[in-house]
Amino acid sequence: MKNILTPSTSPFLLAPCGLSCRLCHAYVREKTVCPGCRAPDAGKAASCLACKIKNCEKLAQGRFTFCFECDSFPCARVKHLDKRYRTRYATSPIANLLHIKEKGLQSFIELDNRRWTCPECEAMLCMHKPQCLACGYVWQK
Ligand code: SF4
Ligand code: SF4
Ligand SMILES: [Zn+2]
Repeated sequence: MKNILTPSTSPFLLAPCGLSCRLCHAYVREKTVCPGCRAPDAGKAASCLACKIKNCEKLAQGRFTFCFECDSFPCARVKHLDKRYRTRYATSPIANLLHIKEKGLQSFIELDNRRWTCPECEAMLCMHKPQCLACGYVWQK
């Protein structure tokens, strides 16, 4: 439960695709914990290591850190991710990226903290789990 109880203020946990790693089940689980998309690869799940966005050749050039800064944004890979996350997890990586682009990182972090705080116990929710991991509150009906 170490990571889910307190809001984050770190942009390090915002992935290039616009997802918040701290809301990911791989980051908040107890075993084989993922250190986050921007961390070194040790300990990451195979699916994260194989991610087509994380491994994108444009990101690998190191000229920018978020996909919204790319001249191909939103590319097919990002659109595919966005559709999957909007459909299954009630979150939009593209909307997240546009918020960062228009209002800045700090504004997005504050919004994200508000949006993903459990209304019952104030722990951080996990976007991949429909219930609060701390108190069981069902946020996704
Ligand atoms: S989808 Fe890819 S880029 Fe986004 S957080 Fe997961 S591994 Fe990182
Ligand atoms: S938006 Fe650009 S940097 Fe991001 S995955 Fe697509 S091509 Fe790569
Ligand atoms: Zn709760």
